[in-house]
Order: sequence, then structure tokens, then C-alpha cells
Amino acid sequence: MALKGDNVVVSSMHLEKLLSMKGGKGESSYANNSQAQAKHAMSMLHLLKESLDRVELISTPAEADNMIPFVVADLGCSCGSNTIYIIDVIIKHMIKRYEALGYQPPEFSAFFSDLPSNDFNTLFQLLPPLANYGGSMEECLAKDNHRSYFAAGVPGSFYRRLFPARSIDVFHSAFSLHWLSEVPESVLDKRSNAYNKGRVFIHGANESTANAYKKQFQTNLAVFLRSRSQEMKRGGSMFLVCLGRTSMDPTDQGGAGLLFGTHFQDAWDDLVQERLIASEKRDNFNIPVYAPSLQDFKEVVEADGSFAINKLEVFKGGSPLVVNRPDDMSEVGRALATSCRSVAGVLVDAHIGDKLSEELFLRVEHRGTSHAEELLEQLQFFHIVASLSFA
Ligand code: SAH
Repeated sequence: MALKGDNVVVSSMHLEKLLSMKGGKGESSYANNSQAQAKHAMSMLHLLKESLDRVELISTPAEADNMIPFVVADLGCSCGSNTIYIIDVIIKHMIKRYEALGYQPPEFSAFFSDLPSNDFNTLFQLLPPLANYGGSMEECLAKDNHRSYFAAGVPGSFYRRLFPARSIDVFHSAFSLHWLSEVPESVLDKRSNAYNKGRVFIHGANESTANAYKKQFQTNLAVFLRSRSQEMKRGGSMFLVCLGRTSMDPTDQGGAGLLFGTHFQDAWDDLVQERLIASEKRDNFNIPVYAPSLQDFKEVVEADGSFAINKLEVFKGGSPLVVNRPDDMSEVGRALATSCRSVAGVLVDAHIGDKLSEELFLRVEHRGTSHAEELLEQLQFFHIVASLSFA
């Protein structure tokens, strides 16, 4: 762990060991705060299925000895039920495709992959029991509350190799690739033009800071694609969704900018003004998230050149806030604080400790409550959606 004064500098190795969504099943856990992601994923199911229709199928011999499993991997699976739902959709769709061609469906294997600090225990407990593989596939499908695949967890960063060469048929990754492997060093260096003074995110920051983030994102995505191109079977497909933005200007981070650059930012400023933390402590905290433009993303896919682009577009996702009573301002404030906390809470806790983190998110909640109407109206996410094939 690198130390600078009493401020922990989030280096790449450090972030890899630390980052996770809030585990467990508590109020601010990811498992209980990922309904918005679920809704956004549902609205893109037709695009996912189109991507799956591109996967080349091979007729598998019926003898068990020669069966080659069909392998699906979800990268950045986290610890909620979204990943389980998506894997189920993918496998059911593939079974349908095999059957439509009169092929015997193969056995399926699903890898749930995330950083080592992800709460894999909570995820594994949510997995439905395995269907009786000895029985027929019809039996498996009939049991809706069973899974028709073998499951395993794979800890590690997707900005490295995770699987053996040519072993994966379908890669899926939702709402994860906007997480950088690290906050760029220059952003934390006081002597640099890119030093992000006064801010905890790049929304509204200076151009150098935003460009350092953009470069980090593009370097990360390039390594991601290179790794996957080694791991994928020929004929496989990859479906990627991450936060994106519609503006060309990286200092305008769109929905991500509103989430991390307004009330969250003001809450940090509150802590500084109330002398609960030094201003430098705030300046050394930066959210390692970058919402790319379509252009930022496309440049990297094209430069890599290993994948055919079936689809690459910006898709309107909707609000990250899920509220039952939109006219209840305090519910909106609470939703803002819990959704912010479920994704960034672990990093905030590590930077200022649990007690000050509690104070910070209370302020996010208060500020969210007093701006409820505006939040519901303006907080909208856009996503980059990419369907890529490996020929
Ligand atoms: N796909 C899930 C979860 C998205 S939350 C859903 O649709 O609900 C984003 C996830 O990306 C988190 O669990 C986080 O730990 C993971 N993540 C971020 N950076 C990562 C990296 N470098 N390697 C692997 N996973 C990463």
C-alpha cells in the first residue's frame, strides 16, 4: 500500500485488491441496490439475443465422451441476482438455437468473474440448485427454478488474462467496464496539470485531468480486448455494456457526472468546510470511473482489430434511482445516497473510515432530498452497447 502523508494513494494493485460493490444483503448492499441495472439490462435483452444469434454453433456428438461444453463468462458479475438472471437468459437462448437446428444441446458451463474482494459467498448462495443433469434437457428446462449449467467463480481483474486460450464461447459484461484499473498517477500528483484539486470526479474538472482519465480508460479497454481475443473460441461473441456519455467533451460525464460530480461532490466539500477532513484528503480521493463517448470506445475496438463490430451504439438507460413514491422527497434523497454508497461506499470507507463515510452519505442524502425533483428529472444514464464477434 502506497502512503502519501496520511492519504492512501489508490494505486492499481491497491484498487484491484480493494474495489467491490457493497457485499452482503444490507440496506446499502449491491444485492439490494441493483434494480436499476436490472431494468436497464432488461431493456437491452433484444440486443443481447441478437449478439447470441451470431455465435457459431457446432453440432455436438451425442456420446458423452466427446461432448465439448459451451462456456459463458460474465465479467464484473458482482454479488446480486442480475448476473444469475443474465446467464440464465444466455443459456436458455443458446439451447433454443441448438434445438431449432435439430442439434443436441451441449452441456453448459458458466463462470462468474469479478475482483477478489467481490462477495462471491452472497452470489453463490443466490444460485438456484443444479438441475439433474442425468435427466433429459426437457426435464431441465421444465424446472424453471433450477439452473442448467455448471457454475464457478473466477477471481481476478478483467484487465488481465482470466481464462485459458480459446476456451470461452460467450463473454458478457454489464455496467463494469467504466471502472478504471486505477486513478491515473498524474491526477494525484500535486505538481501535475492533471491534479484534480477540489474535486472527487472528473465531471467539470480541467481538461488535463479528464484527458488523463480518458487515456487510462482507453489503455484499460485495449488490454481487456487483447486478453479476451486470446481467450475466446473462434466463432464466439461478446456483449459489453458500460456507462457512456453523449457529449464529446470528457469533462461532461453525463449521468455519471451527476451521480459523482454534484451532490456527492458537495457532500465532500461539506466535510472539508466542517473541518471533519482536510481539503487535501478530499483532493486525494477520486472515483475511478470514466463514462466514454462512442468515439472513445470505438477507437480502441478498431485499433485492436481482432473483433468484427456487429453493433456499437449509445443507448439510453434511464435513471439509477428506483423509488416507490417519487413525490416523497426523502425517499429520493435516500435512494441517491444508497445507490451512490452501494457502488462507491467501499472506496470511501477505505479512504476516510466508516464513521466519516457515514457522515458523508448522510450529507448526500440531505442534499438529494432537497433537490429531489431535479434529480428525478435530470439523473439519466446512457450506456455504450457493443456486440463483437471473434472470427
Ligand atoms: N454486472 C453486474 C454488476 C455491475 S457492478 C450487474 O449487471 O448488476 C460493477 C462490477 O464490476 C463490480 O462488481 C466491480 O467489482 C467489477 N469490476 C470493476 N473493475 C473490475 C476489474 N478490473 N475486473 C473485474 N471486475 C471489475
